[in-house]
Amino acid sequence: MDRIFEGLNPEQRRAVETVRGPVCILAGAGSGKTTTITRRIAHQVSSSAFDPLDILAVTFTDKAAGEMRSRLSALGVSGVRARTFHSAALAQLRGLSAEPPAEIMPSKAMALRQIGNTLPKPYKFRPAGDLASEIEWAKNRRITADTYLDSIGSHQPPIPADLMASVYQRYERGKNDRGLIDFEDLLEHGIRMFQEEEYVQERFAARYKSFTVDEYQDVNLLQETLLREWLGGRDDLCVVGDDYQSIYGFTGATPQYLLDMPIRLPGAVVIRLESNYRSTPQVLSLANKLVPMLGGAEKVLQPTLPDGAEPAVRSFSSASGEIDFVVARIKDLHADGIPLEEMAVLYRVNFRSEDYEEALAAEKIPFQVRDGAFLSRQSARQLLGSLKRTDTTDVAAAVRKLADRAGYLEELPDGLGDQELTRQGDLARFVRLSEEFDDGARSTAQFVTDIEARFGTEGEGRGVNLLTLHRAKGLEFAAVFLPRVEEGELPFKRARTDEGIAEERRLFYVGITRAKQHLAITCVNDGRRKSSSFFDELSGKPARRSAPSAQAKEPEGIAAEIGMEVELSGGFSGKVIELDERSASVELADGQLLVVRYGERVKTRGVSLPLAPPKGPQERLVDELKKWRLERAKADGVPAYVVFHDSTLESIAERRPASLPELSRIDGLGPVKLERYGEDVLAVLSES
Ligand code: ATP
Ligand code: MG
Repeated sequence: MDRIFEGLNPEQRRAVETVRGPVCILAGAGSGKTTTITRRIAHQVSSSAFDPLDILAVTFTDKAAGEMRSRLSALGVSGVRARTFHSAALAQLRGLSAEPPAEIMPSKAMALRQIGNTLPKPYKFRPAGDLASEIEWAKNRRITADTYLDSIGSHQPPIPADLMASVYQRYERGKNDRGLIDFEDLLEHGIRMFQEEEYVQERFAARYKSFTVDEYQDVNLLQETLLREWLGGRDDLCVVGDDYQSIYGFTGATPQYLLDMPIRLPGAVVIRLESNYRSTPQVLSLANKLVPMLGGAEKVLQPTLPDGAEPAVRSFSSASGEIDFVVARIKDLHADGIPLEEMAVLYRVNFRSEDYEEALAAEKIPFQVRDGAFLSRQSARQLLGSLKRTDTTDVAAAVRKLADRAGYLEELPDGLGDQELTRQGDLARFVRLSEEFDDGARSTAQFVTDIEARFGTEGEGRGVNLLTLHRAKGLEFAAVFLPRVEEGELPFKRARTDEGIAEERRLFYVGITRAKQHLAITCVNDGRRKSSSFFDELSGKPARRSAPSAQAKEPEGIAAEIGMEVELSGGFSGKVIELDERSASVELADGQLLVVRYGERVKTRGVSLPLAPPKGPQERLVDELKKWRLERAKADGVPAYVVFHDSTLESIAERRPASLPELSRIDGLGPVKLERYGEDVLAVLSES
């Protein structure tokens, strides 16, 4: 009993003492919500209010459920069921339904790949993952294949809605024919069992008597409906959450269920925890800067810990500068005694892990990737698999061909889903790595070996944590790094509505509040990328409207260039011979000239995209510098990245230094490189 109440503050204690009846804990990050509900469950048992077997606790991931069980057993309690909604539903279908549950499909992707392959051309290449996300979008809102078209409202499907509806229908039919169910069906079938099968409600009510849900701000309609079936009109429910941390709105989750709970269940004890036990005052003061922008029930986090280091909030003129900074900080902190496992790099998009996998592996620092590392992802596996079967020293061309075949796009159009963005990011990474590697002498086999060595030092359960912001929910680390806080990445470019941007800001907030002692928030401002509006909100600058609109104005498509081979609609094809402000002139095989306006669709290198105005002088200069780099790397017998990183070339093109001293001020140009390449670079600059 002593252990259960040890160290709790009065409000936490009140929650733990309230073993019965509706309890709603609405409190900020790191205020001890998860700690409190764990102690409360222990007290429900130790006070004999409930038998351990009466209690069902729902957490967000299996890992969190496992953690709760081990914390309970440390408090001397065993036998409490701690599960996710899905595993709870499965157990109930097994235990209560007259019919055993059907077999669960391991993933939707396989079935959807087959359906996807039959779609007309541009949609054929959409990864099955994006179709799966769309089906999940619908199912989490209890929208069926039949009600899909009538229910989508202003929602934007990844492919045209009528096509999507038929994909959804075929997916459901195929699944039923094979006698399988998916993860959402588990919840749906669970609900149906309660509503349709005799005696299930009574038997369930005799089995479970008290319910606790952590991270309740992220519950969706499907889960909430099942929860209400469990309760069946009873009110022994304890929910905890923080509306500032609701980050699953895109799946249909809403904090409204949390905020309305005290209205829905009269007599609920509402607990607000004010003190934060996780983070230093310095970290919290940064997190609190976002509070005025977060809306909802205002919760300023009050520190209890002693002062710590000032967080680093820094912008870099190149991406490599930012990565070097993070890696150097990791080394310093480690030297100061912070275990690598207590450090985390948190990012918005999956493929960002690659930057850090590569950089950490180069420094022989172990790391663990929570969402699956670069080489474990399908695009990487496929590409490496095919490469192993080729044998050439024309490595860049071989990789480019495979990437093109896989639908690689140099310029990404709007509206790609998460999965496709990750896949495109992976393909682009391969193309870049192969260009850097290609020295005309080494073979594709050596490239594969090089890649496997460079990315293959992932440690199991040890090393620096690399994970997405979504995955980081509920976790804490001694040191947290938040790189690439820039427009298009955080807020993510797909977030266009005010609500979408608000959710991105909450994601940022979740990231900041994971840090216990050390925090670094960084971004790259290099002309192409610019710091996010959230970054400015931290420094107290007036919020600039987040700017996806500015991005939308940028031409999307393939930049026209002289000599480019294009196919046009109507079966014409030819070569671009002239460019002006509004259009490109294409010479057809029979000598005729055709004027193609920018914005019209053309097909080049197998990809169909709107034709965009030619590249600006800066981009052309980058191309020139890359050409020089390739020659120089070949002449010196080194990989191209040893000469310069892309980001360094981009900084050079942006600033156009006219002398060696000016050149030396660019990130990535130390004295050695300056001596070795300085004159060459200035020559390229003066020629173009
Ligand atoms: P999140 O919103 O991120 O899920 P949370 O509110 O669930 O956070 P916890 O993870 O329970 O917070 O607690 C954060 C940290 O504070 C943990 O390290 C926990 O051990 C510690 N903690 C919680 N309550 C107290 C307390 N009363 N005294 C000292 N430390 C505490
Ligand atoms: Mg928690």
